[in-house]
Amino acid sequence: ILARGRDVCRRNGLLILSVLSVIVGCLLGFFLRTRRLSPQEISYFQFPGELLMRMLKMLILPLVVSSLMSGLASLDAKTSSRLGILTVAYYLWTTFMAVIVGIFMVSIIHPGGAAQKETTEQSGKPIMSSADALLDLIRNMFPANLVEATFKQYRTKTTPVIKSPKVVVEEAPPRRILIYGVQEENGSRVQNFALDLTPPPEVVYKSEPGTSEGMNVLGIVFFSATMGIMLGRMGDSGAPLVSFCQCLNESVMKIVAVAVWYFPFGIVFLIAGKILEMDDPRAVGKKLGFYAVTVVCGLVLHGLFILPLLYFFITKKNPVVFIRGVLQALLIALATSSSSATLPITFKCLLENNHIDRRIARFVLPVGATINMDGTALYEAVAAIFIAQVNNYELDFGQIITISITATAASIGAAGIPQAGLVTMVIVLTSVGLPTDDITLIIAVDWALDRFRTMINVLGDALAAGIMAHICRKDFARDTAAEKLPPCET
Ligand code: ASP
Repeated sequence: ILARGRDVCRRNGLLILSVLSVIVGCLLGFFLRTRRLSPQEISYFQFPGELLMRMLKMLILPLVVSSLMSGLASLDAKTSSRLGILTVAYYLWTTFMAVIVGIFMVSIIHPGGAAQKETTEQSGKPIMSSADALLDLIRNMFPANLVEATFKQYRTKTTPVIKSPKVVVEEAPPRRILIYGVQEENGSRVQNFALDLTPPPEVVYKSEPGTSEGMNVLGIVFFSATMGIMLGRMGDSGAPLVSFCQCLNESVMKIVAVAVWYFPFGIVFLIAGKILEMDDPRAVGKKLGFYAVTVVCGLVLHGLFILPLLYFFITKKNPVVFIRGVLQALLIALATSSSSATLPITFKCLLENNHIDRRIARFVLPVGATINMDGTALYEAVAAIFIAQVNNYELDFGQIITISITATAASIGAAGIPQAGLVTMVIVLTSVGLPTDDITLIIAVDWALDRFRTMINVLGDALAAGIMAHICRKDFARDTAAEKLPPCET
């Protein structure tokens, strides 16, 4: 038994470390909350977690560009269009199913009741119309400037808001009075700031603006996929660029293989740091608590039953084994709340543990991380109906259909970054005439729900890759035989 235990630990060392780091992060976070650290101490404490986020984000751009270009270029036109159509159709179908699950759960649990309107912390109202949000989605597919798209998304300008400002009077001389907070625009973090109120007012600490959070992944995916298809059609004249992208892809994956050993350490601080920052959980109202339970139950039903069953029926393979293979990516999704940041690990898990054809993963994953968000779609539908229930607003069948369509569209428009779904909620609410200001009702628990829905978003992409690998296996076997460019393996 001991020898077997040692063998399991050796083979799953990283996974075991990652699970332990989530547990240690939670325990450490709740323990340190009792110590009442100052905001500055918390920001120092969060530093190792911040490094983890930065490492992951550093890899997104080369990974997305190289994987899509080399992946699509190595397929013939027939295979790439079949894979493209099947993948997008599957993504739309499963997202719509997630919305239906959400509507079903919120109608059964009825978390909003029919009582008086409850208000929570009034902060960070996104002020954007649904037409603007939809136009921004299309604009982002066609970035006017590709270099700018690597660090900025197009967003219709709205007023930045300061979220959760905290005033601190320093105990030690020079006893400065500081305001700490996060400046946000359209629900995305613009920058951390600390303002010294002791005269003369002066900004004493300012983090670098969160530029990579704003990366226009949709534009980059669209451009790289188009380039990949064209390179594939160019034949021999496109070969140098294709092998460059293949080498780039392999080398990024090698960086990932080294960086993953830092991740368990980073996860501890990322999770503990978030627990230190969160508001008192006892302040969450009863309805909001039921709302959170509804979203989590819906996510569990969709992610742990419906999607795995679908995988089983289509592939006839054991979904538990498949999910075990991507467990590490799910833990990173839990820690980072970002499906884009998790992308390098999802790749690694699928290639190494689940042995998915790399050409499939290179297409299905980056596209999925951008447009396939089952968890976000489910949450958007639940949140919209919850807001209607809280306002004692009866939705008719037509409005429920409208919510299901707009929640699907809104999830496609949401970027794979923390709390992006909160911003695209505006589309769903305005489509049925619900007050967009009521997004503030759910803000208090959104950071936590975001982590769970991101896990389901990542799981949905991974299972899609498994299903596509099964459906397209014959095309790929044929393509492998005909492939002219050997992959850049080291
Ligand atoms: N955080 C989610 C993701 O990255 C998006 C969202 O629902 O806010 O997949």
